[in-house]
Amino acid sequence: MLQDNFGREFHYLRLSITDVCNFRCNYCLPDGYEGKPDQAFLSLDEIRRVCAAFAAAGTRKIRITGGEPSVRKDLPTIIRTVKATPGIEKVAITTNGYRLPELIDEWADAGLDALNLSIDSLDPGVFQSITGHSRLHELLDGLDRAISLGIPSIKVNAVMLRGLNDNQVKPFRDWLRNKPITLRFIELMQTGDNGKFFDEHHVAGEKLRLWLLDNGWSQALRSVDAGPAQEFYHPDYQGRIGLIMPYSKDFCVTCNRLRMDSTGKLHLCLFSDTGIDVRPLLKSDDQRDELIEFLSSQLLDKKPSHFLEDGQSGGTRHLAMIGG
Ligand code: SAM
Ligand code: SF4
Repeated sequence: MLQDNFGREFHYLRLSITDVCNFRCNYCLPDGYEGKPDQAFLSLDEIRRVCAAFAAAGTRKIRITGGEPSVRKDLPTIIRTVKATPGIEKVAITTNGYRLPELIDEWADAGLDALNLSIDSLDPGVFQSITGHSRLHELLDGLDRAISLGIPSIKVNAVMLRGLNDNQVKPFRDWLRNKPITLRFIELMQTGDNGKFFDEHHVAGEKLRLWLLDNGWSQALRSVDAGPAQEFYHPDYQGRIGLIMPYSKDFCVTCNRLRMDSTGKLHLCLFSDTGIDVRPLLKSDDQRDELIEFLSSQLLDKKPSHFLEDGQSGGTRHLAMIGG
């Protein structure tokens, strides 16, 4: 098992397969994608080798992310490849839901275990003003299709934004009455590019936590391997509500994840100063043990916290660079 100096164990990898994105979320890529879409993202063979090494070192869950992962035409093959890796028990994806109704069947067929869909508002106008994308109905149809296909875990992510969607908590809550999903409100994080936006729109999750507790929601017990979300349930609602509060005390104590960006750089934290290039160790299957040894040695440099509360966001200009 990959472990750091603080006793944290890493059994979850977030693997970015592209940094290209077709949305313009105002907190992430307000001017749209400005990189070089032709840069060499990890090939299928390289992805297979990453998965094999992490799995052999104890990783059990891999989340495919981006940029927007669905812009890669070979995504279904990637899902199938990750799923076929001995030791990997769960393949997840985080997506903006573009063309989801057309794509979800193929992903399910390839073995997808968990879908996280980003929906920052249920109001089409507000959704468009945040994401630059007008077809909210497409995401909602895709979500319903995912539920009907029986994908085991379905979550919706909404970044809370002061003055933009923070008045939408009640419509979101009402929507959960008959939706068997978990809706996670994510606190906006400051990145290199969004400092001014952050100052204007960051809203602390604590207020929402207290509101939930005052309104009949109970906090679920955390399992040992739970992620960073605090989850709440209510007897009258089929859906659950999660809160991800990266600025809360001790947020990093339960960190269980590592990140690989789309060009093969390992990120020990979402807000590390730089990524560590492992691509030279992805050239052949024979390098697996060397790669595992390298990963283990790098982990000893993992810091105890992200230091976001001190306004530090490392080398991360926006989360599309690494995958969130
Ligand atoms: N494009 C996909 C999507 O949006 O779901 C996957 C990549 S995106 C970077 C992953 C998640 O990070 C999304 O749920 C997005 O809303 C969230 N995110 C992006 N920038 C953020 C920020 N500055 N603070 C908090 N969450 C952010
Ligand atoms: Fe694209 Fe996701 Fe960033 Fe929105 S949050 S711009 S969908 S990468």
